[in-house]
Amino acid sequence: MKKTLIVQAPAKINIGLWVKNRRQDGFHDLETIFQTISLTDNIILHEGFEPGIRIICDNKNVPTGEDNIAFRAARIFLKKYGIEPALDIKIEKRIPMAAGLAGGSTDAATVLTGLAKLYERTVTPAEFMEMAAFLGSDVPFLIKGGLARGSGRGEKLEFYDMPRNQIIVVVVMPNDVSVSTKWCYDNYTPGNNEIKSRSFEMILEAYQKCDFESLKKVVFNDLESVTLQRYPLIQRIKELLSSTGDGVVLMSGSGPSVFGLFDDKRKALNAVTALRGVPAQIFVERICKK
Ligand code: ATP
Repeated sequence: MKKTLIVQAPAKINIGLWVKNRRQDGFHDLETIFQTISLTDNIILHEGFEPGIRIICDNKNVPTGEDNIAFRAARIFLKKYGIEPALDIKIEKRIPMAAGLAGGSTDAATVLTGLAKLYERTVTPAEFMEMAAFLGSDVPFLIKGGLARGSGRGEKLEFYDMPRNQIIVVVVMPNDVSVSTKWCYDNYTPGNNEIKSRSFEMILEAYQKCDFESLKKVVFNDLESVTLQRYPLIQRIKELLSSTGDGVVLMSGSGPSVFGLFDDKRKALNAVTALRGVPAQIFVERICKK
């Protein structure tokens, strides 16, 4: 009998992003804290009758075929495990695209782990990581999800226990702002690494303890220096979301999405009211494991 599996692919936020120097290969070394959140794409994997891999998505802006990273993930998996491709992948897209939330990367990671279940293959963590690293820098983290510190291009990972308390995450994605990750990194000028190293060490500890007052003082995203200057709307969203004084507010990845962390749903909703009239999509979510 042909099998179907429904899996959820969570978005990530970066609670801090320290961009170090540009490497010989053109990429930058970075340090970041990754956290998965309850904003997810739904992925339906279905063993088909027709040979090949097909992507169906409810968002017409998402590429189908080889340009879709989930397609490439499926192709790598099926080839590695010698499985004849006859697969339909349906993506129900909720994660905004090109937002700094790793929407494509999480689809790819979830296709890899989902296919292992669908075809009942035992895949070691090292094998998952090898396939994931080939697909992109954020994909290895999204295989497991939760909370991790990432370095290198983001593929060197140390996983940690998530904060015990519930944390509400407000994600704001401005309309009609599209930021190219490459443009962002190309325009970034590295700053004083010594100071950043010191404050970066404190981010993880403050976050794990839910010590938001300390976290506010030390958290930073280096790419804001590029993106906020070019897109004043992102700066405005940051100011409005911080205006109640309750949230820890930061841009995620290369943006343009901004998130706020709150220790209470009422405080989160209160901060959201400050965004009334702002041209943006708003999601009220929570931190979660994968
Ligand atoms: P990251 O935080 O990893 O940089 P992102 O949130 O900036 O990711 P994505 O949502 O992954 O960006 O989209 C970047 C581009 O990737 C899109 O413009 C789209 O053309 C392409 N893409 C390929 N596959 C997918 C997919 N499954 N979902 C969304 N976009 C995809």
